[in-house]
Amino acid sequence: MEQTRRDFIKGAGLVAAGAAAFTGVTALAGCSSQPAEKTAFETKHECDVVVAGAGIGGLAAAVSAAEKGANVILVEASQHVGGTSRFAAGAFGPRFGAEWEAAYAKAPMSDPELGKLVCDNWGSYVEWIDGLGLTTEELAPGSPYVWMGGKRPAEEGSKSYTDEYLQQFGDIFVEKGGTTLLGTRAIKLLTDDAGAVTGLVAEDAEGPFAITAKAVILATGGWQCDKEMCTKYIGRHADLGQAQCVPYLDGSGIKMGVEVGAQLSRSFGSYYGHPQPWPMTYLNGVDTPEGYEAVENVDDVHILYYGTTEHSIQSMGIYVNTEGKRFVNEGLGSSLVNQEVMQQHMARAYLILDEGVRDIIRQTPFCNAAVIGGDRIDHMIEKGMTVVQADSIEELGAKIVAETADGVSFNAANMAATVAAYNEAAAAGTAEALEVPHLGTVPATPLSTPPFYAIPVVGGIMATFGGLKINTDTQVIGTDAQPIAGLYAVPGAAGGIMNGDYWCVMSGYSVLGRLSGEVSTAYAQSAGSAEK
Ligand SMILES: Cc1cc2nc3c(=O)[nH]c(=O)nc-3n(C[C@H](O)[C@H](O)[C@H](O)COP(=O)(O)OP(=O)(O)OC[C@H]3O[C@@H](n4cnc5c(N)ncnc54)[C@H](O)[C@@H]3O)c2cc1C
Repeated sequence: MEQTRRDFIKGAGLVAAGAAAFTGVTALAGCSSQPAEKTAFETKHECDVVVAGAGIGGLAAAVSAAEKGANVILVEASQHVGGTSRFAAGAFGPRFGAEWEAAYAKAPMSDPELGKLVCDNWGSYVEWIDGLGLTTEELAPGSPYVWMGGKRPAEEGSKSYTDEYLQQFGDIFVEKGGTTLLGTRAIKLLTDDAGAVTGLVAEDAEGPFAITAKAVILATGGWQCDKEMCTKYIGRHADLGQAQCVPYLDGSGIKMGVEVGAQLSRSFGSYYGHPQPWPMTYLNGVDTPEGYEAVENVDDVHILYYGTTEHSIQSMGIYVNTEGKRFVNEGLGSSLVNQEVMQQHMARAYLILDEGVRDIIRQTPFCNAAVIGGDRIDHMIEKGMTVVQADSIEELGAKIVAETADGVSFNAANMAATVAAYNEAAAAGTAEALEVPHLGTVPATPLSTPPFYAIPVVGGIMATFGGLKINTDTQVIGTDAQPIAGLYAVPGAAGGIMNGDYWCVMSGYSVLGRLSGEVSTAYAQSAGSAEK
């Protein structure tokens, strides 16, 4: 990485151990009408690099910094390393291939420089993690995708090895001399008089304290748990959607960055997620910090958030909104369909299926071939999710009104007309020519075999795309268009890499995490290393 003279001067001073001062401001807009308040905290730790957030991006950053010789502290708000990444299915790689030009053609709204960086470095990233002893398994010969932790045999009947893989990643960090502070939340950045970031204020059960550092990496994930941000950036119904993540992703890293003058990226309006069954009471509190910390089997969370959302089969049926009308090409892919669901009234839609589709579902294994074999609709019902069933479309409409009303009116007559129009087009082979085209993964078939099913869903958010603006050294860019000395960020805290559809989630976060560890260590070393 090239350091400018300005960066170097800004980063040269380290706040002396003992007490650290910071200027407290709270607004996301980065300014406050309140007079600046100076508060002192006891400095409990001093290090080269402090990483906030122990998901996949934070772990890659922490391990790579420790490997390069930095004295690293990793702070994690929850009681576990792994974050949302623990729940992931484990498909790991650039979804449109590791050749950037080809991938960019499919994801043309992405940041081209960051996108190219991820694709160009994906191969060496996999070599690096394999070299660390973390297992990956090629999805298929020649595929850029690998399974994180390897592929579990279907007969073992569980999800991927993602959680084990991330715990192992956390252990490697400790073996390399790093320190992990669980139950510790970063709340403010420390800066020196020149504006360089010199550490952070963290808070654990005993209260706030300072960690001084030469560099800070924000790997705090996205902001889908902040309902105000969801409404502001995604749409007027988005606060009714479901955050599909650990309950700590409230944009704290982004807010901390903005407080010290960081610029926001593009892409705040799009995100990755899948429609979630409604009502969300089936989550039984796992989406709160208390509920999450009480979870004994992380596979259950995976299944709740993901395994039953039926995204693999939604293109075999049709979605209608509360008006009873189709609003999206169901074959667009689950994530794009989901973003349209979020824009509907109450962020709500209904997936309409018939017994013919259910037969296909029964025979289709799902997600690493092991999450839920057999009948996933039965499984949804067992888990307490709503599946409306009826012997005719008219009865289905009446039951939707009765069973899912929730203060929302549902237009059953429109729904019956919509199904009839779809069936006619499907039978004639003209579903692609409907006013809202239907171009599924299998040829459209009339929904005419009873019983009929309606699965009410809401939009879900697994990964937000907007965050702090970074450059190709993962340095956070200030509103003056210059890097903020000492401050680095990794997606989801950093943004812009994806826009519209998803293509690199954990792989992009990992590649940029590793890079941020290397670059921040070089920067810290240029300012003199903290004693190990
Ligand atoms: C069910 C499911 C399946 C998925 N499957 C896949 C898949 O197969 N492939 C794929 O690529 N992606 C998948 N994803 C998406 C992917 O897992 C996430 O988008 C990604 O893991 C997010 O990584 P992250 O490091 O940004 O965030 P996280 O993993 O959530 O890490 C952020 C961490 O920061 C912590 N934190 C937040 N604020 C603070 C703070 N102020 N101080 C300290 N710590 C803080 C959080 O507790 C968390 O541990 C899936 C997601 C879900 C929910």
